[in-house]
Amino acid sequence: MYANCPVDKHFAYNSAPSKTVRQFLMSETESRDFIRQIISDDLESGKHQQITTRFPPEPNGYLHIGHVMSICLNFGVTEETGGRTYLRFDDTNPGKESSEYVEAIKRDVRWLGFDWGGRLTHASDYFNKLYDAAIKLVEMGVAYVDSLSAEEIRSYRGTLTEPGKNSPHRDRSVKENLDLLARMRAGEFDDGEMVLRAKIDMSSPNMNLRDPALYRIRHVEHQHTGNTWCIYPMYDFAHTLSDAFEEITHSLCTLEFEDHRPLYNWFLDQLEPRHRPRQIEFSRLNLAYAITSKRKLNALVEEGIVEGWDDPRMPTIAGMRRRGYPAAALRDFVHRAGVTKKDKLIEMGVLENSVREILGEEAPRRMAVLKPLKVVLTNYPENTVEMMEAMNHPARPEFGTRELPFSRELWIEQDDFMEEAPRKFFRLKPGGEVRLRFGYIIRCDEVIKNDAGEVIELRCSYDPETRSGSANSDRKVKGTIHWVSCAESIDASVRLYDRLFTVANPNTAEDFHAVMNADSLQTVAAKLEPSLAALENDEPVQFERLGYFCADSESEDESVFNRIVTLRDSWAKLEKQAMQEQE
Ligand code: ATP
Ligand code: MG
Repeated sequence: MYANCPVDKHFAYNSAPSKTVRQFLMSETESRDFIRQIISDDLESGKHQQITTRFPPEPNGYLHIGHVMSICLNFGVTEETGGRTYLRFDDTNPGKESSEYVEAIKRDVRWLGFDWGGRLTHASDYFNKLYDAAIKLVEMGVAYVDSLSAEEIRSYRGTLTEPGKNSPHRDRSVKENLDLLARMRAGEFDDGEMVLRAKIDMSSPNMNLRDPALYRIRHVEHQHTGNTWCIYPMYDFAHTLSDAFEEITHSLCTLEFEDHRPLYNWFLDQLEPRHRPRQIEFSRLNLAYAITSKRKLNALVEEGIVEGWDDPRMPTIAGMRRRGYPAAALRDFVHRAGVTKKDKLIEMGVLENSVREILGEEAPRRMAVLKPLKVVLTNYPENTVEMMEAMNHPARPEFGTRELPFSRELWIEQDDFMEEAPRKFFRLKPGGEVRLRFGYIIRCDEVIKNDAGEVIELRCSYDPETRSGSANSDRKVKGTIHWVSCAESIDASVRLYDRLFTVANPNTAEDFHAVMNADSLQTVAAKLEPSLAALENDEPVQFERLGYFCADSESEDESVFNRIVTLRDSWAKLEKQAMQEQE
């Protein structure tokens, strides 16, 4: 029955390890996590010549940062050892699953940089074979059709401290069971009327072994098999056998499946498939101030709390991509988090640092003003525009330069001016001087206010001798600020994102609604330098002194930008300041 499995068999077993395997075995052993160590041992001992893994998402939602870890592990170990990885949709639960999710998952895995190379499968591809396996278990006398209701089954199951009791239908004859199973499949019963169960041990201390369900009746259309089936296999059964059919060598899953391993092995012991996978568990990755449960993420979407699965505040791959996180930063982050058996809650700052590190090197610099305050240079000629040369990256001359228009009326950042400034404020204050980056030194002569007493404009004068790059440009002032020219600037709506939750571990909150950050999105009307109109859609840039930004890919209006991440971790900065004050 395991002969014609619809998976590829096109690789040759060699007795000599391949070059990639040899390279892997010779690589630094200290950097290996415990799973890579097991894999290395198995390759070294010759137990396996080639490693096969799978990433098995259920298509009932979009992938999140936790899945990134599983993807990088499963695809990573086979990339390193020249093995192969299946992308297998674990689609045994119709009703909650959809082809929208299937397509989103494929897009996300590809974007992360991994290639399943034609090994795209579904648990539902094996529905015939799984059904045959169920018949075999019935014939062996180790599975039976139960007609207890779901509630009765629950009450018969016992508790962690009390053994369960046998169903009155447990000892049905093989013949009767085969007949009932066939009729279940033929659609003669309603949902929940019958269930196929494994006959293991109702008093086992492991609840998973108390005659677990193998098949249940669901008269629901399936996103992949349509109306072919009205009975669907349970996860543990389908998962174990799908692993065996695909000849998965190392079935890597998260720790909550540790208790399921005895059942996994029970299926393999009973059915003795030609290939026996080994299940290994590792701990889930949890990100602080974020939730990593598809059910809860779905609730955020359904309740309209966020814009969608790809809202840039979501810890989904689609959200982080739209936010502007590079795929390489996500891979770097999970690498830093490591594969262990210990529960982890990793600071958002660690992820943000991975993002900053990559963008710091890659992102060209641009000028933008998020909260504009007008500056008029009273001694600068009207109707004149000078082009200033600006470096695209301070550390990478190969990025070249661009021209920035400079004129009599400019925007600067509101925060860069203080009327009553403390002594150590080195930006603009009345009577004070500051350098405009790539421009001139200016002095603030006059502060204009509206009737409400708010500062609405600064009258300044510029020193024509101090143009950046000119002979006298080294006249020193303490502060340098960014700016854009009013007439040439473009308007943009810039979205500033913050954490979605106010507590480090919203996963454990009784009601996550109670710990949502009401200020997770702030939109400002910003002014950008004109070159940003020609920005490639997915190109991230640094707005000097402000952070990393990208054009929002989902907005029809071209001038919507997302803040990817600030320049420094403002939390870390506060901590550092506090520590310095103590010194
Ligand atoms: P969720 O709780 O979000 O629904 P799940 O485990 O039910 O997650 P699946 O689609 O079944 O979601 O997950 C596919 C694979 O990703 C599984 O092998 C699972 O173990 C792994 N995975 C899911 N969440 C995490 C996580 N937080 N950290 C590491 N791996 C994870
Ligand atoms: Mg799951």
